[in-house]
Amino acid sequence: MEVLSPYKEATEVIAEAGGDPLKLCYQCGLCTGVCPWNLVRNFIVRRIIHEAQMGATDFGGEEAWLCATCRACVQRCPRGVEIIDIMRATRRAVVSLGIGVVPDALRISAKNIAGAGNPLGEAPEKRGDWAKDIKVKKFTPSTEILYFPCCIPAYDPDVKRVSQATATIFNKLGIDFGILGSEEKCCGEAIRKAGYEDTFLSMAQSNIDLFNNNSVKTVVVSSPHCYHTFKNEYPELGGRFEVVHITQYLASLIEEGKLNFSKEINKKVIYSDPCYLGRHNGVYDEPRKILQSIPGLELIEFPDSREDAICCGGGGGRIWMDTAKGERFSDIRVEQALEKGAAIIAMACPYCFLNYRDSVLSMDKAEVIEVKDISEIVAEAME
Ligand code: SF4
Repeated sequence: MEVLSPYKEATEVIAEAGGDPLKLCYQCGLCTGVCPWNLVRNFIVRRIIHEAQMGATDFGGEEAWLCATCRACVQRCPRGVEIIDIMRATRRAVVSLGIGVVPDALRISAKNIAGAGNPLGEAPEKRGDWAKDIKVKKFTPSTEILYFPCCIPAYDPDVKRVSQATATIFNKLGIDFGILGSEEKCCGEAIRKAGYEDTFLSMAQSNIDLFNNNSVKTVVVSSPHCYHTFKNEYPELGGRFEVVHITQYLASLIEEGKLNFSKEINKKVIYSDPCYLGRHNGVYDEPRKILQSIPGLELIEFPDSREDAICCGGGGGRIWMDTAKGERFSDIRVEQALEKGAAIIAMACPYCFLNYRDSVLSMDKAEVIEVKDISEIVAEAME
């Protein structure tokens, strides 16, 4: 019997992940042309695809960890090559076969997710603490909606504003919702893209069992990453529930005449399409519809928006890795927003929130431009 070397196993894992479309790549280079890394440094995507075709790749080199899985390349590829799957498989080979170096920050986040159920390593019993001062009940099988805030709005002292604004809106509208707090675990989407397949499977199974045991029918989420994996990846593992992103939910309430605004927000607001809401799941209109419904608010657009939006840099596990100053995509976006005269950059993703917030702070622009989630803007317009 042939004994596989780790490298042979790795190339087989990658070839399998790429499937038949991997063979179709004809090295046109269109993927490299749209990759946002090329705004800040050279990153030749087609070379990685070529190496995967040839059964060799630079396992564990820095390039293995750059891809933010923004999907700009997949959207542009004329041959249907699932480039993100190939990147994920490369990382998976490094992680599972131990044949390269995993960035320290990613290793720590992965360990935290596996151990504490969240990337920050916070105590699981504190996961529902964001709701302590707001009237939020525990979800039971008779509750209509489960609100799942994502690890960042659950724990981050600043981004808690997102979950708190969402609960405030729901309470004002008399929506029957609840949370599962300490019983929830990280959705696992990003750690899967970072190559930690077993950790993803463990998180997914725990959440699926939790939701099924509580007869959850509808989950409203704040994060496009939770949205993506709940909607597109959990079903094949036994997840059976409807998934709605908060922007979809609020837009439908506006449509039905159930959400009205009493306060004007006389500001220029620029909306940043999150990759996992836009390119990955085709949700472009609902966030804009909400913002356009707020009296006084002027919605403006980035030079590249919707399908062409530049990634914040936080997908694919990049949110947990260090990105050098001068290489942060969110810095480019903040510059663009300032050039357009925006007073607020509107978010619909907690990872975008973290990256934009850090960019605004490190660029010393907090006095001129704010980073706010759409749910915060909505809550403010309802006061
Ligand atoms: Fe290959 Fe598609 Fe990239 Fe062209 S765009 S080089 S076909 S992966």
